[in-house]
Amino acid sequence: MSACKIERWLRPEILALCGYHVTPAAGLVKLDAMENPYSWPEELRAEWTRSLSAVTVNRYPDPEAADLKAALRNFLQIPSSLSVMLGNGSDELLQIVMMGLCRPGSKIVVPEPTFSMYRILAETLGMHYVGVPLQAHNFELNVQAMQEAVQAHEPALLVLCYPNNPTGNLFDADAVAALVEAAPGLVLIDEAYFHFARRSMLPALAGNDNVLVLRTLSKLGLAGLRVGLLAGPHPWLQEFEKIRLPYNINVLSQAATVFMLEHAEVLEAQAAQILADRERLLDELQGRHGRVQVWPSATNFLLLRIKGAGQSLSKGLIQQGVLVKNMHGTHALLEDCMRVTVGTQEENAAFVTALDACL
Ligand SMILES: *Cc1c(COP(=O)(O)O)cnc(C)c1O
Repeated sequence: MSACKIERWLRPEILALCGYHVTPAAGLVKLDAMENPYSWPEELRAEWTRSLSAVTVNRYPDPEAADLKAALRNFLQIPSSLSVMLGNGSDELLQIVMMGLCRPGSKIVVPEPTFSMYRILAETLGMHYVGVPLQAHNFELNVQAMQEAVQAHEPALLVLCYPNNPTGNLFDADAVAALVEAAPGLVLIDEAYFHFARRSMLPALAGNDNVLVLRTLSKLGLAGLRVGLLAGPHPWLQEFEKIRLPYNINVLSQAATVFMLEHAEVLEAQAAQILADRERLLDELQGRHGRVQVWPSATNFLLLRIKGAGQSLSKGLIQQGVLVKNMHGTHALLEDCMRVTVGTQEENAAFVTALDACL
């Protein structure tokens, strides 16, 4: 009965959708979601808890999150010529931008493989999603194919993930600039891994009237607080602000993030540790087995290909107690691939041991 009603009334694009899948991680070494594996020093946690006890939860949050906005502008060095908008994670900001652009028939062009939420959000909102393959050998942009897609489809939105998830590379900056030039609509540059890449298109592209840059604190170490930031020209952000839900950043997230940004050196030291450990893990995997191919990365994860692995290897790893992200079957260029987040040294060693056991 209710299935009939669902099919009659629910939008067909939602019925057809595959949602974002999160595998339960209880009891496993969790290397699937690019989280920072470290907690904070004991005294800092105590000070943090004390500071949060002053937060009132009977009142609505500051709808502008003005203190947090100022702290983030400063921390992320956003030029004063640009406006900023905060989101409940950068996912929400992607959704807001697409909500603003999703007229009937409007299109989004995205190089692939990339972050799966772009497609999920676009399809949820009824935008027509066009994926253009990256170059197979190095996952670099195929500028000609991208330019042709832009000309053929006239997309309202072009999304470039810089560096790209799940391939880990920074696209060639000149290629990005050429696509910004060619795009008739908005270009959103998703810099979720900025704190590991330590490179940004923001300085080069801040002067363009059609470029938005997206950042998040999730990968740096505050994934649980859900704070993302969109920087771009005021005329655009002013419009997107109209569709942001009024209190999208809750009081605890506002207060906790402001507190942590006053102690950002802790997070930055953790990121530096993760970068050093990424290089070790890369070396170890590169030298290890003929079957293992691993790509260099500008992020806190590595993409691996293990010939003949299919999906079964990530399942085998779970049996060994380690959770990574299977990529096989998600895109033709990711055959036999998995993505592993760089964890603590112990977690990385557990991954390598589990991998050996499976091979
Ligand atoms: C993780 C990730 C996001 C989402 O991050 P949140 O701020 O936690 O919503 C966005 N884009 C890319 C490329 C990511 O990898």
